[in-house]
Amino acid sequence: MNDDGPRTRYENPAYGVARIVLSRPEMWNAQDTRMLYELDADFQRAALDDDIRVVIVAGDGEHFSSCHGPGMVGDEEGMKRVTLAGGFTRPGVEGTMAYEEEAFLGLCWRWRNFPKPTIAQVQGRAWAGGLMLVWPCDLIVASEDMSFSDPVIGFGMSGHEYFVHAFEMNARQAKEFLYTGREILADEAFRIGMVNRVVPREDLESATLELALEIAQRPSFALRLAKAAVNQATEAQGLWNSLQTSFSLHQLGHAQMMLTANQYIDERGWELSPNFGPPKK
Ligand code: ZN
Repeated sequence: MNDDGPRTRYENPAYGVARIVLSRPEMWNAQDTRMLYELDADFQRAALDDDIRVVIVAGDGEHFSSCHGPGMVGDEEGMKRVTLAGGFTRPGVEGTMAYEEEAFLGLCWRWRNFPKPTIAQVQGRAWAGGLMLVWPCDLIVASEDMSFSDPVIGFGMSGHEYFVHAFEMNARQAKEFLYTGREILADEAFRIGMVNRVVPREDLESATLELALEIAQRPSFALRLAKAAVNQATEAQGLWNSLQTSFSLHQLGHAQMMLTANQYIDERGWELSPNFGPPKK
């Protein structure tokens, strides 16, 4: 399998709309450092193109994005720094925290604040790292067969690094989601307000584009202001402070694993969530 090609593709499916597509379907769009920074470059391109009013984030193949790929943390290939976090080569949690601050929390926060409307177009799985590409988007259109899951507790951490769980669902739902690592299917996600629309998979692309075109007709500056207003409302509810605290707790989990097992994650997590990860060879 040739896995050296681009990780994303930039498309213009209609005037005013950019579609950024994860293009590593044979790996179920498992992420690596290159993919994240290609995605960021695509966001920059869409940001600087004044003809683009709405951005869709989609994925080729069976699954939107199955996970953060193995061996990702600490891999600097393709990294183009967006924060001043440094120290990736330092031992212990200092190095891994620096990587996660830059490539996980740093990028997710940057995309969450992207100044034009964004829509995640999701099918199959958006699990853990996959969810971290969906939740920063403004709107979510899901295919009927898709599922969300964050099985990261099984690996010794409090949840994935962009910890907005208690903002995406209520506190009791978030706790069950985390404690059990279970899948929330599209219809349940719709019921609890986490996704905007659920459509048959064959209609996913057209339904998302239709929504994007409806939004793109509106004045771009008013869209930008509305997005900022809603984002600031969640910040007033404590989103940013909550993210910082949760990120520190997540790092405490990594530190505990390093102290007790001399590894970054608890490998028993794979047994607890046998379907998690890229396709088994
Ligand atoms: Zn982590």
